[in-house]
Amino acid sequence: MKVMKFGGTSVGKPERMFQVRDLISRDNEPTIVVLSALSGTTNALVAIGDAMSSGNKTKAEELIDHLHAHYKTFLAELLKSDRIRSKALGIIQEHFDFLRIILRISFNDALNKDILAQGELMSTKMFSCYLEELGQSHVLLPALDFMSIDANDEPQVADIRLKLNKLLEQHKGVQTFITQGYICRNAKGEVDNLKRGGSDYSASLIAAAINASVCEIWTDIDGMHNNDPRVVAVTRPVEHLSFDEAAELAYFGAKILHPASIWPAQQFKIPVKLLNTMQPEAKGTVILEHADSDGVKAVAAKDGIVMVKIKSSRMLLAYGFLRKIFEVFEKYRTPIDMITTSEVAVSVTIDSITHLDAISKELAPLGELEIISNQTIIAVVGNRLTHEGGLLQKLFTSLADLQVNMVSYGGSLHNISILVPTEHKNAALKSLNKGIFGLD
Ligand code: ADP
Ligand code: ASP
Ligand code: MG
Repeated sequence: MKVMKFGGTSVGKPERMFQVRDLISRDNEPTIVVLSALSGTTNALVAIGDAMSSGNKTKAEELIDHLHAHYKTFLAELLKSDRIRSKALGIIQEHFDFLRIILRISFNDALNKDILAQGELMSTKMFSCYLEELGQSHVLLPALDFMSIDANDEPQVADIRLKLNKLLEQHKGVQTFITQGYICRNAKGEVDNLKRGGSDYSASLIAAAINASVCEIWTDIDGMHNNDPRVVAVTRPVEHLSFDEAAELAYFGAKILHPASIWPAQQFKIPVKLLNTMQPEAKGTVILEHADSDGVKAVAAKDGIVMVKIKSSRMLLAYGFLRKIFEVFEKYRTPIDMITTSEVAVSVTIDSITHLDAISKELAPLGELEIISNQTIIAVVGNRLTHEGGLLQKLFTSLADLQVNMVSYGGSLHNISILVPTEHKNAALKSLNKGIFGLD
């Protein structure tokens, strides 16, 4: 059994859904098809939630009407038969009625999660109607019946495995299953989600749960590129990555993959392929356990980073100082990405400012604090990087004209991290493209 996940652009137009149906029908292997919301929908739902939370009901209503009109046009093009089209219009109507009902009740975070879930619920039901029109047998598996996270927002892998396999047992012999990416239930049993871009994570968790032969992530680009194509003009796809390399790239900002989406597949050694719906014959990227070669494969950038610097002469020749610092971050469940130390100072980076005030208060007695916001981590990712002669020279020459606030080297064989002010990010990615990959 395999998993095929299609992202927002891959289902964002009726003709793309036609293509998705061709792609899922190419071989006889039973498949779980994981769909995202139509492109633009989750952004629109976020805007609707924002309007409601700020009490602007008129704005929320306008946004709902606009989105509803888009879905009606979409269905008019997707479905030919009057019977199925009116069935689909009825289903969509129910979801928009739900959004309009929420308008009238007092808004809270749980309701917001319900709003955000509508995109994937609608896309899967619309695709199911399309398959029904074609007479293609399939089963719609509600993700809310098996996908769950615990009180720390971590997926409940064992539970997911149990519930999903039980559901599959009930449909022996079925070739095609359709399910929603992104959405899940939380520890309270409420509707929740796996954070933006979370359909990749759903796909990987499902692949792990069923020991899939492969987890295919179909998107709008032919695989993981060596650099961020949104920033750099010339990039090229990377054919092979190891799980470690892919996980580092995803975590450090390569948007093609949700930051946490690699580990479930990695844990169960399930190959992951990144493929292009618009160019299905392109090789894309294959992600396997071992790297196929040494050296740098790609660079990625993660914004929204804050650097916290703690300076203290008491650190000199003292032990236990680092432990005290780390305990503060641990207490506030705030992960640290980069660390550098000197004899009298420690700098760390964090990507969540939720508890920054409390953290700062607790760190203050330990030394002089400096908080520097608007930073970006540039991650240079590959295999056995410390073995590559001349790499540091290339890196530093490429970044010679830019401000570099931290460098983390040697922590892993797969990653060299460099902290730059976000205003220098684009320039850094461009000059690394030339300096490391020889691309202009
Ligand atoms: P989907 O909706 O299919 O999940 P996403 O928009 O989440 O697609 O991810 C695909 C996008 O990721 C690409 O269109 C590209 O702009 C962006 N991206 C950022 N960094 C990379 C990279 N290193 N390689 C490929 N794509 C990247
Ligand atoms: N629809 C969700 C989002 O836009 C999840 C996803 O597409 O992966 O973030
Ligand atoms: Mg995505």
